[in-house]
Amino acid sequence: MGATGCGKSRLSIDLASLFPAEVINSDKMQVYRGLDITTNKITPAERRGVPHHLLGSYDPDNGEMSPSLFRSLGHAAISGVAARGNSPLLVGGSNSFIHALLVERFDPDADVFGALGQPASPELRYDCCFLWVDVSLPVLEEYLSKRVDDMLDMGMFEELAQYYDPARTDPGGRIGLRKAIGVPEFDRYFKKHPPPRPREEGAYEEAVWEIKENTRQLAKRQIGKILRLRGCGWELRRLDATESFRLAMAAEEEGEGGGGGRGRWRDVWERQVIGPSEKIVKRFLQE
Ligand code: ATP
Repeated sequence: MGATGCGKSRLSIDLASLFPAEVINSDKMQVYRGLDITTNKITPAERRGVPHHLLGSYDPDNGEMSPSLFRSLGHAAISGVAARGNSPLLVGGSNSFIHALLVERFDPDADVFGALGQPASPELRYDCCFLWVDVSLPVLEEYLSKRVDDMLDMGMFEELAQYYDPARTDPGGRIGLRKAIGVPEFDRYFKKHPPPRPREEGAYEEAVWEIKENTRQLAKRQIGKILRLRGCGWELRRLDATESFRLAMAAEEEGEGGGGGRGRWRDVWERQVIGPSEKIVKRFLQE
């Protein structure tokens, strides 16, 4: 678990090289097929051969993936992974999906994360070991802003230009993948400057600013939800990845070869995140 950008996917692949495991995605935008850059899906190369489930497999034309549907598809995926003798690693930032899948009794009408929400149940239908990757908010915010720039460099704008449909302009009608951060922001832009017109710098910068701001807000909400689950008795083990993020960003600024910083962030990540996670998971699997 963890807010967007905090290194959950990286940790899952690192763990899957230590234990036989398969990943089940629990990011509510990454379950849909399409917009791989915009939703920041882990690439096939980054998966390093680890099988992934519910990642880009759901056709967005089938409508919205509800928490109830995720609960049943997730359960089927977990059973399949367990039948192969592997450990299911549930990885993703959608706490409402994680909650729906794991609780013993799921009430689709209960508003667990709303302002007046009923508290989440501490009773779970599986034996769970929770790892929460946390990065202090100011550091995470700086990283997220850079990540949006990187995603744009990777082709996010072009991906969204292709996805843009002028017939789809009603913001109230947004469902499923159309809610992904980047879609509404650039839909507004494309409405005024339809592709393939040359980029209009002012409006473009405004859309990018909104994406950064909305990503920042998402991270804050996600951390709030994680704290809420912990407050309801979920035993989350917190791993602090702040220092490795700080070092990685400093190394990036110095340039890829500069100052030996690239190696250092990885060392700190191994010492402060992978090492403790490995111990926690090992103990859990032996119990
Ligand atoms: P909620 O209770 O709001 O449904 P949640 O915990 O189930 O929250 P979140 O992960 O917080 O789900 O996602 C909420 C919203 O954040 C999404 O509807 C979408 O707008 C945006 N979002 C989440 N993940 C992504 C992503 N990978 N790419 C783009 N946008 C995302």
